[in-house]
Amino acid sequence: MALSATTTIAFKTVNTQICSRNFLPPQRHLPFSSSLSSSSFVRTVSARAMELERKNPPVIDENGVLKKGIAEFYDESSGIWENIWGDHMHHGFYPPDSTVSLSDHRAAQIRMIEQALRFASIPLAEDERKWPKKIVDVGCGIGGSSRYLSQKFGATAVGITLSPVQAQRANALAASQGLANKVSFQVADALDQPFSDGQFDLVWSMESGEHMPDKAKFVSELARVAAPGATIIIVTWCHRDLGPDEESLKPWEEKHLKKICDAFYLPAWCSTADYVKLLESLSLQDIKSEDWSPYVAPFWPAVIRSALSWKGLTSLLRSGLKTIKGALAMPLMIEGFKKDLIKFAIITCRKPE
Ligand code: SAH
Repeated sequence: MALSATTTIAFKTVNTQICSRNFLPPQRHLPFSSSLSSSSFVRTVSARAMELERKNPPVIDENGVLKKGIAEFYDESSGIWENIWGDHMHHGFYPPDSTVSLSDHRAAQIRMIEQALRFASIPLAEDERKWPKKIVDVGCGIGGSSRYLSQKFGATAVGITLSPVQAQRANALAASQGLANKVSFQVADALDQPFSDGQFDLVWSMESGEHMPDKAKFVSELARVAAPGATIIIVTWCHRDLGPDEESLKPWEEKHLKKICDAFYLPAWCSTADYVKLLESLSLQDIKSEDWSPYVAPFWPAVIRSALSWKGLTSLLRSGLKTIKGALAMPLMIEGFKKDLIKFAIITCRKPE
């Protein structure tokens, strides 16, 4: 089933001014397995989606729709995700040609955090004095990164999310792990953060940037709350960089991303090169980026496998429309990566001292 047109979010065309011509990275072979986009899974879950949509026609309201949609999407789906995958709501990192277990999701997700810290040159074991002490987790989910980083570095962390259910669960998990005095979570908008300037020595955004309708504002807020010398880490979904002769993506690519946007409450995408330009425009230093798509290739097939398990399928069928639509879009992510349209990007930088 195609995702329903009636639920189309009123997408703003965002930051078109920054979508510039960039070189096209070399094609890379990605080890995706297409056999996992099981048609029986899609048929069963689609039928349930149609039934739910008939009962709950979506309310479209031009302005608040994206934020409201994001909040409701995560309010509805976070419990199921936690039940099946745990408290990290982001891709796993799978070193190519290694023997790591694909079913150990948590290990892969922790590896993602560790690799991101390493890429950003955060001093790890050797020099405790240089460890981050005050962290902001922008788009914190149920706080997996905040709690992990707080424990790793002995740091305080504060997380923000649009979802009240996530903030509440994140605080409950912190309390149950004895971390309530170190980490806290609240509902707040990443584009208008409730923090004064220059507070945090690590600004962390793990897979939230793709939800931001104004990438320039997003990045400027990350830079604003960063303390002098702080590290900013953005791990996010991007579209491919544009080639030197390209003004925009191809129509089929736009169409493909639009379907994913509809399902996951995402506004227009930008490329990794666009992020780099934005960071440059803010005079941030040591800007680095890398395409980690090959390292996350096994992730969506693994998510689909878990959705196809008895626990996954029964949870999904009991869940709401937004969660089901998200599940139906998973094969589109696999296809987007395979066709080199979607890039899993890490972009890091430092605020000048
Ligand atoms: N970083 C978390 C969760 C990723 S899911 C993890 O790795 O586990 C995306 C998160 O981004 C959700 O918590 C969602 O509420 C948050 N988000 C999306 N748009 C946001 C915004 N404008 N302000 C704050 N949080 C936002």
